[in-house]
Amino acid sequence: MQRRRVVEELEMALKQPIPAVSAPPAESRNSKIVPVRPQPRGSRERARAEPTVAGAMESPVEVLKGVSRGYATKLKKLGVERVGDLLWLFPFRYNDFSQVRPIAELVVGEEQTVLGEVWSAGAGLVGRRKASEAVIGDETGTLRVVWWGQTYLARQLRSGMKVALSGKVTAFRGRIQMENPEWEPVEEESLHTRRLVPVYPGTERLPQRLVRRLAREAVGAFADQLEETLPEEVRRRLKLLPVTQAMRQMHIPDSSQQAAEARRRFALEELLYIELGVVRRRLAWQAAGAAPRLTLPQPAHDGFVGSLPFALTAAQRRAIDELLRDIGQSVPMSRLLEGDVGSGKTVVAAVALLAAVAAGHQGAIMAPTEVLAEQHYRTFCSLLSDGEEGLWQDVFRLDYLEKPLRVTLLRGSLKASEKAAAQDSIARGETDIAIGTQALIQEDVSFQRLGLVVVDEQHRFGVEQRAALRQKGGSPHVLVMTATPIPRTLALTVYGDLDITVLDEMPPGRPPVKTYRLRPEQRRQAYDFLRKQVSAGRQAYIICPLVEESEAVAARAAVQEYERLCADVFPDLRLGLLHGRMTPGDKDTVMRAFRDGGLDVLVSTAVVEVGIDVPNATVMLVEGADRFGLAQLHQFRGRVRRSSVQAYCLLLSENPSEEAQERLRILETTHDGFKLAEEDLRIRGPGEYFGTRQSGLPDLKVARITDVALIEQARAEAIRLLEADPELKRPEHGALAARMKELWGRITAEVS
Ligand code: ADP
Ligand code: MG
Repeated sequence: MQRRRVVEELEMALKQPIPAVSAPPAESRNSKIVPVRPQPRGSRERARAEPTVAGAMESPVEVLKGVSRGYATKLKKLGVERVGDLLWLFPFRYNDFSQVRPIAELVVGEEQTVLGEVWSAGAGLVGRRKASEAVIGDETGTLRVVWWGQTYLARQLRSGMKVALSGKVTAFRGRIQMENPEWEPVEEESLHTRRLVPVYPGTERLPQRLVRRLAREAVGAFADQLEETLPEEVRRRLKLLPVTQAMRQMHIPDSSQQAAEARRRFALEELLYIELGVVRRRLAWQAAGAAPRLTLPQPAHDGFVGSLPFALTAAQRRAIDELLRDIGQSVPMSRLLEGDVGSGKTVVAAVALLAAVAAGHQGAIMAPTEVLAEQHYRTFCSLLSDGEEGLWQDVFRLDYLEKPLRVTLLRGSLKASEKAAAQDSIARGETDIAIGTQALIQEDVSFQRLGLVVVDEQHRFGVEQRAALRQKGGSPHVLVMTATPIPRTLALTVYGDLDITVLDEMPPGRPPVKTYRLRPEQRRQAYDFLRKQVSAGRQAYIICPLVEESEAVAARAAVQEYERLCADVFPDLRLGLLHGRMTPGDKDTVMRAFRDGGLDVLVSTAVVEVGIDVPNATVMLVEGADRFGLAQLHQFRGRVRRSSVQAYCLLLSENPSEEAQERLRILETTHDGFKLAEEDLRIRGPGEYFGTRQSGLPDLKVARITDVALIEQARAEAIRLLEADPELKRPEHGALAARMKELWGRITAEVS
């Protein structure tokens, strides 16, 4: 069979094995808090007693001793401009130097602290490197200490001085030594040694010692003045430290447990602001007005489902039940329907739209582009009949509906008179289902009795759009559809104002896309494979590498790649180009040509992601695959998984690093979009996942977006607070409200 030959050829082409990659080092990037050890006689009380910080919280950091202009610039990069900001520069881990041992009992390889006397100290060349060197002694023995590069240190170490040294003990020619330990005179309060010592982030060329001292001074001077933002009730319920105590434990922890508690408090607080924001948005949507109750009579339901050329998957049936339950209520629905490309979201939406029509209301579908709107129109028309669809409007007489159903496509290319007629039909309520781009709500289209809006692939369908919807008349139910797999934690945060339905099952008979990683030298073979598929009558996508600088740069790169492919690689094939700098009209023309088989290969930047349905396209070649997120790559390859024909995804990557290769390997074996999304989120964080700005969330400094349990707690708390005090007007919520305004006010301004 021909298919089989193609497969074999690909496998032949790929027969050079791709080197296996060992797992990346399991070192955790998250702050690691080391186990508790007995605490040396702490001098914490002393630290608290003598605040030495000059000026007030608002003074610029330059007023502090030791902060030169250069250091001030570096601190600024870390977000520290004012003295008070030092408090919020949190350590990302702690060195546990609490283990104090006599020299004779030191253990090689462990972090320990030694208390001893300086016997001798000097600076010079040790071997070939400049260093300070000292010998330290206690009752049990002596210890050699070297500070590489830091020749100035020797001058500070006077003979006879009592010092504390903390660091890892190493062995040198059979004797123990310490290299570059932290140190301080014993009579000083413990700051760099003898305790859990904080390590601050991003302090390249900014001495840890300086930051540590500044942070401690700021804590001593200002921690008491911090305003408690969390209502006492919340703190009590979640057993959270008060802000002053938490701040102190963050920088000067008594134990790693206390440090963890401090972190939990601040993390929860961050998440609470996020949850208050999204939950409030949701409540506002629900409270602003009643939506019509849309019910679908059983005969109509059965009539439609029975008329389909396939049986619904179990996931589709579940989703339909959920939707129908929601829109049968007068609380406006705001639901996200999430499922891989090809999982059959359209049919699910169609049932809900039928319910709207059956209940005497109108429905609307909005797509991000004209071509997609057109695609929906076609799909819709074919779901409702086997007949040909009209140019922009079609009427269906269905045995299961009482009256004829009119579908209108509002496309930009309509003649003025046609457009006016379409708008008129919508406004007068003749149109039952209107399909178009966002123009449907943005321009002057008004609906007579809009009951349900379906929004495809615009998962940031935001506050403003909904406000615009409201102005179109009343409070319709809203269903947003997306092929982006959304990890649970993001569902609770970024999408926290929506309910979520997941289609986690593909219609039967669609084999997963065979995915292969290729080395750059295998590009030729990839091209050969593409060519074979095309000569077998198939079509292919080539995705250009992700260019982050700007759309313009990305477009230029794509044009170059396209020209190269046309001239040198596929001069005999019909190639098309798609990038973000093209006009919507040009994009549509290219997409249409590809859809209708007028092009063999579509060279595209990532815009194809919100793509078109071309069942005949069976290969996707992704250049620079390592630059994309896993979830995004998965979505790309979903584009070629549109039929029972075996499809292929070839991942080219110039990046030989183990990390990059390991990530791509996951794609070869995993076809579960959710797993990939979770993995992505874990590796790259939410900023990368959605683009920082797009995520529409405040940055997280302490909390981790992967911490489901904490996010759930914060959400429950947010709901409780807003149910009791929707506007956060009570005095005990004053601080919360102010902070919320500061955070969300700015973000809303950024988004709009
Ligand atoms: P997506 O979720 O990507 O929007 P679509 O709704 O466009 O997917 O459906 C993809 C294709 O699968 C369509 O051609 C649709 O008719 C078909 N389809 C949907 N549900 C089923 C099913 N249960 N069995 C077989 N084919 C289905
Ligand atoms: Mg779709």
